[in-house]
Amino acid sequence: MQRRDIFKYGASGALWFSMPSQVLASKKLGRVVIIGGGYGGATAAKYLRMWSRGKIEVIVVEPNAYFVSCPVSNLVLSGEKTLEDITFSFDLLKQHHGVQWIQDTVTAIDPERSEIRLSKGTLSYDRLIVATGVGFMYDGLPMLNNKDAQQQIPHAWKAGPQTQNLRKQLEAMPDGGVFTVTIPALPYRCPPGPYERACQVAFYLKNHKPKSKIVVLDANPAITSKRPLFERAWQDLYPGMIDYLPSSNLLEVDVATRTVKTDFDTVKSNVLNIIPPQNAGALAVASGLANVGHRWCQVDFRTYESKVFPNIHVIGDAVDSGLPKSAHMATSQAKVCANALAFLMSGEAPDPSPVFANTCYSYVDDKAAIHVTSVYRYDAAENRMKPAEGGGISAHASAQEFREAQYWALNIWSDVLS
Ligand code: FAD
Repeated sequence: MQRRDIFKYGASGALWFSMPSQVLASKKLGRVVIIGGGYGGATAAKYLRMWSRGKIEVIVVEPNAYFVSCPVSNLVLSGEKTLEDITFSFDLLKQHHGVQWIQDTVTAIDPERSEIRLSKGTLSYDRLIVATGVGFMYDGLPMLNNKDAQQQIPHAWKAGPQTQNLRKQLEAMPDGGVFTVTIPALPYRCPPGPYERACQVAFYLKNHKPKSKIVVLDANPAITSKRPLFERAWQDLYPGMIDYLPSSNLLEVDVATRTVKTDFDTVKSNVLNIIPPQNAGALAVASGLANVGHRWCQVDFRTYESKVFPNIHVIGDAVDSGLPKSAHMATSQAKVCANALAFLMSGEAPDPSPVFANTCYSYVDDKAAIHVTSVYRYDAAENRMKPAEGGGISAHASAQEFREAQYWALNIWSDVLS
């Protein structure tokens, strides 16, 4: 450790970070602009300010006035939470850490000039962090690529108005109706999320419309995360209610009748929730950052610097990491990236082998939850974060884990936003 100060973090598991020694000697270390104030971007902003002791100027560009959390948003569908419960202000983050904020959308990145274009003017940077989450791909589903269709068939895979819309549709659904959720092939944001959604919708229907059915059309050959735990929860808590159909590729959607056709089945629903395939988002694709299949962004996992453009870093769901795309992962990546930038902008070498953890809880009803935890360590030979020793999965759903899941959420919200 020698000349380095040491910090330890609870929120990301046993994460250790050090601070550059030159930071105290310098006056200013330059400007980092962050596109996106979600889980990854907001975390990077806070830790860049902290680890540079305010010597790095940080400007976040984010179109939304409030932070709405995707984690816990499935509980809005069951009525256990409201959208207000998962909506937070950015004020504490700005005030506590001196983060500058521009409420706007970035329309283009110009790596040659080290500039980004906003709807009102341009902004220059020394380093840029792109933390724009996911975009939704409608090439195979053109009939859903408009506002009207998404009003009728919301994905609700970005918490906000679509989450509320889906909840209202469930409330209006008749007893004996059919709710269908479709899951894209991996990789997509939050692998266990759709199965947790099936649990929360089943919980609501069991208590309010018990003759109803849930159909899960999964493009994957099997449940992609916590499989035995979800299978057991469905069997124990919702017997006979959930039809799980693997290897179900969506071929056609009739918006008016909420009917979907797959290779094997035709399913007509009262409420249809299609979660489309995802990519790194329009800006990452248009700027050329999404160099893996025009879909995801390749980075150096020691710094999160793009493999395409120098001085541009990408964190969160947009990264081609081969790891689960989660809020916990986005905040861990944000901390590694912020720490590396504090070193690089001080003229020092960053940590050559970062380590972090990912924990993911899923709520199976109003009392019990399950989790999986993994630890990842940077492997220089393969340039990727590889599973390391540690981690584990629940033996069974429990009330204890429900409480822990609630603390996980409180902890990450407070870490990211204050
Ligand atoms: P986001 O948090 O989506 O942030 C991206 C930000 O970029 C947004 O605020 C957006 O407005 C902004 N942006 C986009 N484009 C632009 C632009 N052009 N200009 C400026 N700003 C822009 N993860 C967990 O760890 N645990 C869970 O329990 C969990 N549950 C989930 C449940 C559901 C239903 C869903 C959908 C997801 C869940 N996740 C969970 C996954 C988690 O939400 C994502 O992995 C996480 O939000 C990724 O963080 P991010 O910073 O990459 O993207």
